[in-house]
Order: sequence, then structure tokens, then C-alpha cells
Amino acid sequence: MIRLAVIALIATVVLLFLWWFLKPPANGEGVAGSTEMVQDPNCQVYVPKPEAVYKIIADQDHYFCSDKCADEYLNKHRSA
Ligand SMILES: [Zn+2]
Repeated sequence: MIRLAVIALIATVVLLFLWWFLKPPANGEGVAGSTEMVQDPNCQVYVPKPEAVYKIIADQDHYFCSDKCADEYLNKHRSA
């Protein structure tokens, strides 16, 4: 019966190792590294894509840091 207990122990350790290797990185460093940065064409500031204000202007994707910047850029674009 001791052999069975050893096999069970090894199986548990292997499963723990697999779980540890397969789980996605939970630390902030991994998340920040995968976040794409986009540049606001109005104020040239870089913003994380999920937080950016997204607009399609002249069939092109534009990302802004705020609604205010998006409006300013649109007004400049219209008057030009
Ligand atoms: Zn901006």
C-alpha cells in the first residue's frame, strides 16, 4: 500500500506543477506587457488601447485619450 501512496503523492505533485505552469500570469507585469499602447493624434499622448476613446475618421482608426481630444481633432480635421 505504500507504493500506492507514493504514486498518489507523485501524481499530486505533477498536477500541481502542471497547474502552476499552465495558469496565466496573475502579476501586473504580465498584464502591462501585453497591453497595446496607441497614440492620441491630437495631443500625442500614449494611452492603453482598452482605455482609449475609439473613433473612425475618414475610414481610419483613431484612438484618443479623451472625448475632448477626439472632438478637438474632429474640429481641426473639418476646418482644414
Ligand atoms: Zn489627447
